[in-house]
Amino acid sequence: MADIIQLLPDHVANQIAAGEVVQRPASVVKELLENAIDAGSTHIQLIIKDAGKTLIQVVDNGKGMSETDARLSFSRHATSKIRTAEDLFQLHTKGFRGEALASIAAIAHVEMSTSDNEEMIGTRIRIEGGKLESQEAVAAARGTSMQVKNLFFNIPARRNFLKSDTVELRHIIDEFHRVVLAHPNTAFDFYNNGSELFKLPSANIRQRIVHVFGNKTNERLVPVEEETGVVRINGFVFKPEFAKKTRGEQFFFVNDRFIRSSYLHHAVGSAFEGLIKDHTHPGYFLFLEVDPGSIDINIHPTKTEVKFDDEHTIYAIIRSAVKHSLGQFNVAPVLDFDRDANLDTPYEYNKMQGAQVPTIEVDSSFNPFEDEPKVRGNAQVATATGKGHGAYYSKPAGASWENLYVGLNQKEDFSSIELESEEVTGSLFEDDKEHTGSTTYQLHKKYIITTIKSGLVIIDQHRAHQRVLYEEFLKNMTVQSGISQQLLFPIKVSLNPTEMSLLQELRQSLENTGFVFASLDGEEAEISGIPVIVSESETAMVLDQLLSDFQNDLPESNFSQADLLARTLSKNLAVRPGEHLNQASQQALVNNLFATKQPDISPFNKPTYSTLTVDEIDKRFL
Ligand code: ADP
Ligand code: MG
Repeated sequence: MADIIQLLPDHVANQIAAGEVVQRPASVVKELLENAIDAGSTHIQLIIKDAGKTLIQVVDNGKGMSETDARLSFSRHATSKIRTAEDLFQLHTKGFRGEALASIAAIAHVEMSTSDNEEMIGTRIRIEGGKLESQEAVAAARGTSMQVKNLFFNIPARRNFLKSDTVELRHIIDEFHRVVLAHPNTAFDFYNNGSELFKLPSANIRQRIVHVFGNKTNERLVPVEEETGVVRINGFVFKPEFAKKTRGEQFFFVNDRFIRSSYLHHAVGSAFEGLIKDHTHPGYFLFLEVDPGSIDINIHPTKTEVKFDDEHTIYAIIRSAVKHSLGQFNVAPVLDFDRDANLDTPYEYNKMQGAQVPTIEVDSSFNPFEDEPKVRGNAQVATATGKGHGAYYSKPAGASWENLYVGLNQKEDFSSIELESEEVTGSLFEDDKEHTGSTTYQLHKKYIITTIKSGLVIIDQHRAHQRVLYEEFLKNMTVQSGISQQLLFPIKVSLNPTEMSLLQELRQSLENTGFVFASLDGEEAEISGIPVIVSESETAMVLDQLLSDFQNDLPESNFSQADLLARTLSKNLAVRPGEHLNQASQQALVNNLFATKQPDISPFNKPTYSTLTVDEIDKRFL
């Protein structure tokens, strides 16, 4: 048989390698930023268009390349960073595999201009799909500018596989965070579609964290420091009360390289044991320095996994260093279970919901003849469950029970309620035919029970209200009909750049629901109008929760953006278990629920009600 094995042509080999190195625009951003760092730059600019799908450009003031190096840099396995295999264990650079530029050039249109001198003598190279298109001498300042356009232009399958701009931008911001946090001395600017997303001056690490994540971060940080023969640790953890239900800011860096390690993550988690609630995650920025010879970075093409010689020791050191810091900075006593709810972050708010025990008992305070609602509000919930550490957002009593009416043709709704509440004051023992569905009882401040012809309906008040609000918000967003209440004094909310860019993207949809933003720049959002359904005091909480949810569960299309927005708003605004509802509210909820398109499930696909038929009841009396 004839020989059949052939060496792959370079451009094919490069495309295959690109598959490993370049998954999405964010991978290109990472590689280019790291190259700029390795070149010793003090100022790096990142410019992207359409979440990197159209353009990713990195401009640095580093050492640049000679004409020959410029051409060679796009060859596979071409690197200036290592020469021998031993060098792999003395790495002080981000790159070393010499494959990023070759891979990127294989799947995009690349234009690079670079100069390694102060005489403005430089080289410009254009490469498309791995093919050299042109190389010429140009006037250029010392440093390198790398433009990557039309990523995956020659691999349609990959291009089609890219997510929405929101998602891809989020990935880019994540990579950007990882690089800028590891290199606080370097100044960075980041422009997205012509607008400035980050402008980070050279700073120390604490300042850098604050510049990236917003001023509110500063007071949350607890410094961590430890030095042993094996590892030097410094950085910060968030105070325990800022632990999030969703994974938030969690960063490990080893020798200035961001890495993932579920093992070391666990070490931090265990240091927080007893200080934070189950299913919440501590935030941390931990910088480890180890002997480069004691780690192997070359175990994964993206270099985000590292093998340590002595992982167990490092685990133990991290754990004790973090524990020590939390103790030393007297953080534990801050966990005051009864403190002012206003001081807390809304993330806690949700946790409490998860901690509810769904036992059913009759609400002895219930009085079916009572017309006015008693005190209603989440403050009650907190004391009723006695769980958590007082981090509950409390609505002013009765602030929004009228909101239950939202979701129905209002006229019809109100008239039916009047009629029915008249009947309620009549007799408890109702005549079947006339009163079917007209009487409601609230059970355990959690369920609404009402009768139907065939028996009983038990409605989960929280989920039912979610369904009502969800459909209302979705409708308002699509027909842009949300009614707004003007605020006398605008509410100001401070946001970090990531949150700000997200909010700018959601602005239109939110305005359709009734929000009015007077301004959205810098670190502050100024809200001058809110949907009628939202109370003034809960606005900041709702917005904060919304942004947090969006960052963790990114929508992939505009449709799902509206859907997610409506779901998040409904989740945060629906009446809670533990809230007393008066008769009128109960009935409005029942009516509104059954007027929705899908009354049986909540926007989160949980059942909203259950029925108990007379037949089933009869069986119990056999
Ligand atoms: P690696 O970073 O692993 O060496 P790359 O393909 O990313 O591989 O880059 C190849 C080479 O091109 C680098 O080793 C470096 O010498 C040069 N290079 C790339 N980007 C820059 C830059 N921004 N400034 C100076 N030199 C660069
Ligand atoms: Mg590189």
